[in-house]
Amino acid sequence: MTSERGAISTSSLYSGIALTLSITLSSYAVWQQLHLQNTVNSLALQTQSLSNDIVTLTTAVNKVNAQTDGLSQVVTNAQQHIDAVNSRIGGIEQTVGTVTSTVGTLQKLSQTDPELLSQYSKVYFLSENYTPKHLTDIPSEYVSNTGVSQKFIVEAWPLLKAMIDTAQSEGVPIKIKSSYRSFKEQKQLKNAYTITYGSGANSFSADQGYSEHQLGTTLDFVSPQNGSVLAGFEKTPAYDWLSKNAYRFGFILSYPRENKSYIFEPWHWRFVGIRLATDLYLKNERFYNMTQREIDPYLSVIFDSQ
Ligand SMILES: [Zn+2]
Repeated sequence: MTSERGAISTSSLYSGIALTLSITLSSYAVWQQLHLQNTVNSLALQTQSLSNDIVTLTTAVNKVNAQTDGLSQVVTNAQQHIDAVNSRIGGIEQTVGTVTSTVGTLQKLSQTDPELLSQYSKVYFLSENYTPKHLTDIPSEYVSNTGVSQKFIVEAWPLLKAMIDTAQSEGVPIKIKSSYRSFKEQKQLKNAYTITYGSGANSFSADQGYSEHQLGTTLDFVSPQNGSVLAGFEKTPAYDWLSKNAYRFGFILSYPRENKSYIFEPWHWRFVGIRLATDLYLKNERFYNMTQREIDPYLSVIFDSQ
C-alpha cells in the first residue's frame, strides 16, 4: 500500500510539476507576447516620431534649399554688380590715363613759349619787348668773332652744341656768327645794312628790327673754310652738311631758295625741334609753306630729344 501510495504520490508530484511548468510556460508566453506587443507599440510610436522628424527635416531642408537659391541669386547679382563696377573702374582708369596724358601735354604747352614756333612775316611780328626767358652764353670756341658774346636759349643749347660737335668730328667746322639779337640790336644792324646796301636791305634783313633772331633760337652760321663771312655760305661744306643733318638736331633753314619772305639765306637756321624739323625734311616741305595751325601741335614736343 505504501508503495502504491508512494507511486501515486510520485505521480501526483510529477503532474503537479508538469502543471506548474505548463502554467509557468504559458505565463511566460503570455508575458512574452505582451512584452513583444509593447515593443511593437513602442517601435510604432518611435517610427511615427521619426516620420514626423523626417517631415520636419524635409521641410527644413526645403526651406534651406529655397534660401540657398535665393542666396545664389544674390551672389550672382552681386557678381554682376562687381563686374559692372570693375568694368566702370577700367573705363575710369582709361579716362584718367587719357586725362593725365592730356594734362601732361597741356602742362608742357603752358610751359612752352608759343612764339618759338610762330611764323613771322612783314605783317606778323614779335613784340618789340619780347625777350626769351632763358638765354645762355655760348662758349667762345663755337663763335666766329670771339670778341662778341653770343646767347642762345638754354633748352636747345645741348642740341646746338651736339650739332656743331658732330659736324666738327666729321671734318666740317661750323662757327656761329650771330645768334640772339634784341629788337634794339636788330634795328641797329638793319640801319647798318640799309646804309651799306640801300633799299636792297629790305629783302636782306627783317624790316624794322623784326627778326627770328629775337627768339633766341635762330643763328647765322659761317664756315672758317670760307673766311667766316655770310656771303657764299651755300658753297661751303658746312652748308652742305647742315642741309643733310641739321634736322636731326631740330634745325631748319628758314629762308631757302625761292621763298616768299626774304632772299635765300643759306646761313640763317632756326631751331624748331627734332619732330618738326624731321617731318619737314622727310616731306621736303618748308616751315613757311605750312599753316600756323599745322605747326602748332609740334610746340608741346619742341624740346623732346627725338
Ligand atoms: Zn639770320
